[in-house]
Amino acid sequence: MRLDKGAQLPGVQGLTDKLVADLLPEYFTGELRTSAPPRVLAANGQGLSRDERVELLEQLNAGKHVELDIEIIASIEPAKPLPLPASQRELANANFSRFHSVGIASFIRSFKDQPFLRDHNQGTILAKGGTITAADYRRGDDGGYEFIQRVRLVEPWAVRGVLNDNIKEFSIGWMWRGGTWDDLKTALQCSVCRTSLFGSDCPCWPGDVMEGDDGEPVIVEALWLSRHVYGIETSAVLYPAVEGTGIFDMSALRALKQRGHGKMDKILKQLGLSEDSSREDALAAIKQLQEKASNDVDSSALSRLESRADAAGKDNERLETLLAAEREAHAAAKVQLDAARAELAGLAEAAEEAKAAEDQARIDGLVERAKNEGRLPIQRDAKGDEVESGLEKSIRNIAKTSGFEVASEYVSGLAQVAPLSQTAQSSTVTKTRTSEGGDAASQLTENQLKVAKQLGLTAEQYLAQLNKSQATN
Ligand SMILES: [Zn+2]
Repeated sequence: MRLDKGAQLPGVQGLTDKLVADLLPEYFTGELRTSAPPRVLAANGQGLSRDERVELLEQLNAGKHVELDIEIIASIEPAKPLPLPASQRELANANFSRFHSVGIASFIRSFKDQPFLRDHNQGTILAKGGTITAADYRRGDDGGYEFIQRVRLVEPWAVRGVLNDNIKEFSIGWMWRGGTWDDLKTALQCSVCRTSLFGSDCPCWPGDVMEGDDGEPVIVEALWLSRHVYGIETSAVLYPAVEGTGIFDMSALRALKQRGHGKMDKILKQLGLSEDSSREDALAAIKQLQEKASNDVDSSALSRLESRADAAGKDNERLETLLAAEREAHAAAKVQLDAARAELAGLAEAAEEAKAAEDQARIDGLVERAKNEGRLPIQRDAKGDEVESGLEKSIRNIAKTSGFEVASEYVSGLAQVAPLSQTAQSSTVTKTRTSEGGDAASQLTENQLKVAKQLGLTAEQYLAQLNKSQATN
């Protein structure tokens, strides 16, 4: 797992990914590791966790062969004035020795392929634990030089010492070129007098305080001209002359602390861990935070979804209930509506029947009136029973097709053949009968014209029939 560079670690204010990357390169995997500082402790090409260290120790104790590659800071040459003012005494090492910056890079690289020893015991092969397989320098923040070495440890004492944390500080051994006394006098100078430390012109001894050129007190250091020396071994030691050596990660951490960065302290504090917590503890805490953050996100998203689904379910239930009630109400309304429609239809039918009966009664009444007034002769069959005459049929047809009023006027216009009771003459008929001249249509009323049309007669024929009826009167 890795975060974007510079991203904030979840749950920890101010603890950025980049900060962790600086101090915990093993926190990262894959492509980022290649841009991170070199692997600090490895066996058979693999980075080591604390558990793996224990496992390797057990293998070692069981008599198995274990090789270990470590990267170390074998020594440090800080940047400092030459000569060194007494006020900066802390920059001097325990031996009051220093290497001149000219040619120092070559000197540092000359340690490659030299033995890794214990206690600078250069006199016995039994003191050799492994070999320096790579040597280079790294510039410190102060502009000084860190002697970086990769060492392959093969002897059990060396491997065991590193795995169980007993070997953790180092010291370098070197030799002056040529190897003679004179060569030594050339290679080693007094840092104040700038002549051979062993020459008669220099009264000093490393660690002495002398008066400098400007009158200020300075500390005498043994100044090795880097071009005149070369590395012959690096040793695991209990008390190194130079502060800040160590297995790469440990010493890098300590160097940062010395420079006042305290980044690791910051990380530990922000993670809520004590100052003496290990890098592994920090990594575990970070992983835990990330997992927790990830779980929190998952579970809160899940619970949101669940509550939404729940709400949707309840809504759905409510809708179903409403819908069911609606359906029920609708069904009831439909039954009522159907009943009402049926009732209405029945009423309409009855009304129509009643109207038809009424119309029929009026027509019957008209026919009866015509008979009573003698305008409609009663026709009888052979048995003497009354039957419908052609004229009665005409009256009924006119009433049905042209309306009762037209039929009524038609009846009034008929000649009274056999008046049964009182004389009944309509003024209209009289007026028609007495009208002379002009065309026939103009002598007929609008209704008489309709009747004429109904009977299939022209206005003249109808008028003639009217006059004929009158004539028979
Ligand atoms: Zn001197």
